[in-house]
Amino acid sequence: MSQLTKAVVGDFVVVSALESKRIVNRAIAAHGLSPVAAAAMGRALTMAGLMGNEFKDERDYLTVVIDGGGPLGKLTVCADGKGRVKGDVENPAVESLFKDDGHLDVGSAVGSKGTLTVIKDIGLKQPYVGTSQLVSGEIAQDFAYYFADSEQQPCGVTLGVGFEKGRCVAAGGVWVRVMPGCPDELLSRVETIMYAMDEMSYQFRGSSARDVINRFFGEFHPLFVGDYEVEYKCDCGKRKINRIVRSLGKSEALSIVDEMGQIEVCCHFCGKKYIYDREAVERLFK
Ligand SMILES: [Zn+2]
Repeated sequence: MSQLTKAVVGDFVVVSALESKRIVNRAIAAHGLSPVAAAAMGRALTMAGLMGNEFKDERDYLTVVIDGGGPLGKLTVCADGKGRVKGDVENPAVESLFKDDGHLDVGSAVGSKGTLTVIKDIGLKQPYVGTSQLVSGEIAQDFAYYFADSEQQPCGVTLGVGFEKGRCVAAGGVWVRVMPGCPDELLSRVETIMYAMDEMSYQFRGSSARDVINRFFGEFHPLFVGDYEVEYKCDCGKRKINRIVRSLGKSEALSIVDEMGQIEVCCHFCGKKYIYDREAVERLFK
């Protein structure tokens, strides 16, 4: 489990931080991600976890699709109100390129000519859908722009994933939201702090989410309002997959069994395989 901590700073600023190393390593194991793919998905999963924590109902659900036209292909991450996140990416083994400063070039892998779309299903008749243009493909900036542009919520987002020998050794993110009526003096101090929040993977190395909030916002004596757990866990299951197979219709399902010997459904998010032989298909359509 990864820990998420939430605090209020100076009465008008809400800070959430998530230490997400385990989430990223679980995503690497599920998809065989290259370092740059893991960095991109890890950053997006961290943000999805932070956003999912805001849900009021456990059944609330969000999906974020980042489609930047880069070699990584479309990146999808999901989070629910129970603290579960999962992700999928078109090209998990995409080659890892580096920038001049030695950092993984996430922006080039994701691409910056495209959109970030957030779909929130909070039990209303229609899901909420918001879309904004990508700024850099570096993920954190793209989310910050999305909130300002699409949800009229000024905020700062900083996300980082660090690697050593193909494994994630540190990861995390901080999401800072400014509430209406925030005094200018506080706002400018928080902006200065956000500006200094660099090298997030380094900040989370050996540090908890609470440590990171204290390190940056300690001068305000943060009021900690909650600790939560977030994990990479797929919500696929026999019932969900049964529904998909049923949607094929009986004759189509049986003709696949005739041709292939069985129906095999593989979950995109966790790699789990669901097998249906003839008997299982017939039982499904009884
Ligand atoms: Zn699954």
